[in-house]
Amino acid sequence: MLELSQDFEEIERVREEYEKYRIRSKGGVNLSLTHRCTWRCVFCYKGCPRSGPEMTADDLRSLAPKLFDDNLSFSLTGGEPTLHEAWRSIAAYAAGRGRKIGMITNASRISDEDIDFIAKTLLSIKLSIHALTPQTAYEMTKSKEQRGLEVLRKLSQKVDGCFKISVTTLILRPNMPEIIPLLEEFERIHDETGKPDRIGLSVPYLTGSMLQNLDLYPSPEEWENLKREIESQGFNLNIDFEKYGVNYNRALPPFSSCFELEPDGYGYFEGLNIKVGSWRKHSPKELLLFWYRKGYQIVYEALKRGEILRELPDFKVKKRVQRWLRVKAKDYFETESGCVVVLEDGRLFEFEGRGYFALMLAQLYPLEKLQDAYGESFRTLIDQLIGGGIAEIYEVETLFDVEVVD
Ligand code: SF4
Repeated sequence: MLELSQDFEEIERVREEYEKYRIRSKGGVNLSLTHRCTWRCVFCYKGCPRSGPEMTADDLRSLAPKLFDDNLSFSLTGGEPTLHEAWRSIAAYAAGRGRKIGMITNASRISDEDIDFIAKTLLSIKLSIHALTPQTAYEMTKSKEQRGLEVLRKLSQKVDGCFKISVTTLILRPNMPEIIPLLEEFERIHDETGKPDRIGLSVPYLTGSMLQNLDLYPSPEEWENLKREIESQGFNLNIDFEKYGVNYNRALPPFSSCFELEPDGYGYFEGLNIKVGSWRKHSPKELLLFWYRKGYQIVYEALKRGEILRELPDFKVKKRVQRWLRVKAKDYFETESGCVVVLEDGRLFEFEGRGYFALMLAQLYPLEKLQDAYGESFRTLIDQLIGGGIAEIYEVETLFDVEVVD
């Protein structure tokens, strides 16, 4: 059995430290369709392009409903997702169910027809644009297929305000002299169209292909100087600067800015590239629960022992059935002495005491919790509400914990 530290204060401190950085996608996952890519970026944290399994049509058919059931938002990614023949169909499938999704792309294969499709079908797009001139773009991406700025311009003219466009620009020594002119170009587009909504500037993760190109990595001073220069320009853009080189120091716990479901069936974390477990076996929500309950703790403890984990142990999910109160009322409001409930058929039901409070709380907490907190008087009130046809009990199965298995 895996021994986990019981030093909860220390764990809590680490978690806080950890969350300061990049845990930010509890409600969303990236669906990585392929590791093929039209670019060969000198910094690619996944080391793309590379061969290996891809999401098959069957995978996508089984995964998409799970994502919807788990109520997760998701974005298509890769490699370059538009190299996968199913990217349009999965986007259309989601939109057809009222759940538009996002896409993370280098834009190199996006045609004018695709721009129309994207504007109508997707919810958001994140474009990778790292340079203004073809030469510098080539130095960064080892590819002549560059359409980012053109797609940004055309898409920005097409979409409405709800559609979110963000741009990711990674900073290395070769593109540093071009960042100000590139931002000026973004600003021109923004002045005309109100887009993009956000520009994310950061140094790349120190993993994957970047480890072979460390001579291109800016020093903290170079990064700070560039940041200062950008800030002094007062761009009319929403620019986010990521923290410099968080994962440079391996003594810190690794971090995850995104949760990606990979074709080989694993959740995937940036930083130390940790595989979490198979979505073929666990639902994405179970993988997320595992990560947030135990993942960072296991990684942290491995780091303390000087190990770098590549994969986390398997786990079992614990579920429980919770009873909730469904209020069958059109409305309810507080009176001086109690509460008046307007039933669905228009009848009024009035009772003395703290009924209003109980009805409010019942929307927020399961019954057991409320009964424990408020005792016998609450139970009587609930009986009264059920007896009066104002409320009924229903059961929901919820995930509540995970157990690591050897
Ligand atoms: S960083 Fe993105 S665009 Fe560049 S090689 Fe990797 S997957 Fe392709």
